[in-house]
Formats: sequence, structure tokens, C-alpha cells
Amino acid sequence: MTSKTHNNYPPELSNEEESYLLANLKDWSITHGLAVRPATSFVQTSQDPSGVLATTAPVTLFPSLFPRSCFEEGLAIQRAYNELYSAIARDEKWLQGIVEELVDIDDFVAKLWQTHLAVKEEGYVQDLSLGLFRSDYMVHEDPSQSNPTPGLKQVEFNTIASSFGGLSSQVSALHRHLLTINAYPSSTSSLITADTLRQSKSASSLAKGLAAAHKAYGPSKTSRPLCVVFVVQDSERNVFDQRHLEYALLEEHGVRSFRLPFGETRSHTKLDADRTLIYTPPNLPSTSYEVTTLYFRAGYSPDDYPNEEDWVARQHLEKSRAIKCPSILTHLAGCKKVQQVLATPHSPHLKRFLPDANVAAQVLTTFAPIYPLDNSEAGTDARKLAADPTSASKYVLKPQREGGGNNIYRKAIPPFLEKLPETHWPAYILMEMIEPPPLKNAILRNGELHRGGVICELGVYGVCLWRDGSGEEQKGEILESWEAGYLLRTKGDQSEEGGVAAGFGAVDSCCLV
Ligand code: ADP
Ligand code: MG
Ligand code: MG
Repeated sequence: MTSKTHNNYPPELSNEEESYLLANLKDWSITHGLAVRPATSFVQTSQDPSGVLATTAPVTLFPSLFPRSCFEEGLAIQRAYNELYSAIARDEKWLQGIVEELVDIDDFVAKLWQTHLAVKEEGYVQDLSLGLFRSDYMVHEDPSQSNPTPGLKQVEFNTIASSFGGLSSQVSALHRHLLTINAYPSSTSSLITADTLRQSKSASSLAKGLAAAHKAYGPSKTSRPLCVVFVVQDSERNVFDQRHLEYALLEEHGVRSFRLPFGETRSHTKLDADRTLIYTPPNLPSTSYEVTTLYFRAGYSPDDYPNEEDWVARQHLEKSRAIKCPSILTHLAGCKKVQQVLATPHSPHLKRFLPDANVAAQVLTTFAPIYPLDNSEAGTDARKLAADPTSASKYVLKPQREGGGNNIYRKAIPPFLEKLPETHWPAYILMEMIEPPPLKNAILRNGELHRGGVICELGVYGVCLWRDGSGEEQKGEILESWEAGYLLRTKGDQSEEGGVAAGFGAVDSCCLV
């Protein structure tokens, strides 16, 4: 495997080699929008009062080595995951069973569920849903085997605001560019080749998903021009990642889109009598648009809802005729609790959603052990494991949250649980840590180089457009489904968290071995 046979990767660079590589990396990244707005800890607001500065996104200098079989498995299985999660989102009754275990102990999940129920009461007027998903994995080697074959284990499945599809296409192109201009030393020539470097088509492929929803919406009902709306956070630093999707949507599909800060929803949108969503751009007030598709890059965190008015805004959008990416039920399908229930050994759940036994078996091989912390038999065992400092060091504790920075790792679990009333323990799931093989790389972040051991996380994007079922059968149908490229995120091996935006990792690309 990579760790044993490629100890010298990446190679040490001479001063001249490093300067050449970095000079090219920095210019290429800004030229191609492989960039973020600088953190205020890096550039103070007083130094950039009008917010014009951008800086290279945290990137690896070299593409990381990744087992070819695992990479291909992750891509090949994505359509099965699209089928699985769209089927969960269509199964309100099943999701209700999951949510009921959380509503009394997790206010955010409770609020999402209430919002769904309120819209259901009035009746949903749009039966199409769009998912721009990302399934995240790490390579796992079974330490009990003497010559373990690497396997892919799922970290989590994202159903809302799956980010970095824009930057991922750019970083794979950056590494290819560095190869083309001979910035990598000749000692790497057998490893880094045009064939082993994988290009990610995620920006274009995710934009194609938004275009498919836009088209499926049908003609305007109000004789207004049609548009897609990106619902965004107010102070988004990762704006260029999103811009790549917006520009691909316009350039490759001719579809106009607008950025709407979530907090301004009610000021710039209104619902017609038949709940058609009308958007009036604040800077172009003479034209208003009919919204076909709402793409949420906000609304996944409780921090996005500082006021009750923000929940009114989410409900206002949910009850509109626009196609939601994601709907509230699709958002809830991404709860870590769902992942845990699916991973329960011998459970009937996977079969319910994936009737083809071969497909279900393939998906099952990617599950890592995950346990509830409830009063079930498995839950009682897991509570003991989590409360004990020795056994807890193999696990991570996760609440029903997104966006990074929410988990509790290893030895920190027992003292954390000690402070938490036991009635609240079931709001968390306990997951075995995946232990990927050690790798090395160099990360450029805020102009500083960090070299050393790294951990890589592969994300595979999936696009799925489906129609909800109606009547007794409730089956619905998938209209479009495809694998939509990949993301590799790489972090220092001293960090438990992997979020690039949360300040821990870098975007990377795969060099297959
Ligand atoms: P979020 O939805 O906040 O991104 P994740 O489940 O992806 O939550 O956890 C955040 C990070 O924690 C991951 O990117 C990964 O680096 C680390 N992590 C989570 N689960 C595991 C696991 N089972 N084994 C190893 N690392 C994990
Ligand atoms: Mg997530
Ligand atoms: Mg994650």
C-alpha cells in the first residue's frame, strides 16, 4: 500500500525547486479562482475595508497518493447512494421515526421537523426535489491483518450545502498544470502522470444538476424571466467556490442565478397567490424573476437562525413552488442518526430503500461501525464504551450538526458525557474512528508552508433529481442521477477535524497508485 511502498513521497525540494513551484502555484490559483476571501485573523478588516482582497485557498503542493481501487469504488457507488438518500427523503413516515427520537433533545432537528409539518399542513405545491450530495470517505486498513487491502469507509453523507465542488475542479487542474510545467522533480515522474492525476469535473457537473432542475420546473407561470437562487450566508469566505457553480450555470446552460443572503430572504422575495416564488434583486429593482430552484448554501447550522424570523424565512421558502436543493426532508435525511440506523447490523432498513440485494451489499461494505447512545441493547453497550477513557479512544462522538467543528474525539468523550445529562446522550451517535494509512504532503495556508504527516478524506459528489410519490404507494421516481466528480481534502495528522473552511485542512487532488 501507499504508506509502505512510497515512503519518499512527496520528495524534498531544493530551495530553487520550491520557489519555482510556489511562484507558479500562487499565480495560477488566483488566475483561476482557486481562492477564498482572507480570514480576519490573516487580513484585518481595517486593512481591506471594502473587502476586495482574495488569497489562495489552502492547497497541497503535491497531489496525495490514493489507492486506485478505493477511488474507483467511491465513484462507482455514488449512484446507489443517490438512490438510497432520495428514497429516504421520499419516505416521510420512516424519517418521522428517526426524528421522534431526537425532537425532545435536539432543538434544531425539532425546528426543521416543525417547519416541514407546517408546510405539509398547507400542502406542498412542488413534487420535484434536487439533491447535490457529497459522500465522504477515508481509506481504512484493517490493523488485524498482516497484509491488509485498503477499503473505503464512509465518514458521513451530506445532503445540504455540500461545498468545494467549485474549488475541487480547480485544484486538480492546478496539480496537472504543475506537472505540465515540470514543477515536480523528475523523481516523481513514474508516480505523477497525466493518467494517475484525476481531474474532478465537479463544478460543471453540479451546475448541470442545477440546470436540470431549472429545466424540469417548466415554463414561467408569471411571464417573468426565470432564475436560480443561491441562498448564502452573510459573510461567506468560501464565495469563489460557489461562484464557479454560478458561472458554469450561466456559461454552460444560459441560466441566470442570484445570491440571496439567507437573512434577507423576506426583504427580497415574495410568494404569489399560487405560491410561485418571486425574487426582486435589490440592485436591479425594475425587474423581478420567478425562482425555479433554491440552492441552499446556508441554513444548515443553528447559527444561521439567530431570530425566530429566520425560521419564518425557511418556511416561506419551503412552501414555495421553487424546487428546493434540498427540501427539509432531504436536509433531515442527512442527519448522522440516519447514517447510524442504516449501519445497524442485520437491520431491514437498507433493503427497504435499496431493493436490489447486490447494490445494498456494495453500499453496506462502505459503512463503518456506528452506535446509538440510547436505551437499546446496542445503545447500552455503546454508552459503556463511550464513558470509559480506554475504550473511548477508538471513537468519535457526533451530534446532528453540519459544517465541521461539532464533534468530540477519543479521550475527550468521557469528560464531555460526564457533564451532559444522560437524557441528552441519545442526541449523539458514537462512531468508530477510521484509521487511514499514514501519508505525507505539504500544505500552503495563508502563505505559510506546513509539511508532515497528513490524513486524506475523499468526497464523491452526486446529483439526483426526483419526483415525490403521492397516494398510497408513495414511491416517487428518480428523473436524473449521476456521479458528479470528487473532492480530496487533506489535513495534518495531528488534527481530528478535517474542515477546510473551519481552518483545519486543504483542498487536494488524487494521484492514483
Ligand atoms: P461534519 O458534518 O461537521 O463535516 P463529519 O462527520 O464529517 O461532520 O466530521 C468532521 C470531521 O471529523 C471529518 O471531516 C473527519 O476529518 C473527522 N471524522 C469524522 N468521523 C470520523 C471517523 N469515523 N474516523 C475518522 N475521522 C472522522
Ligand atoms: Mg457534513
Ligand atoms: Mg464532514
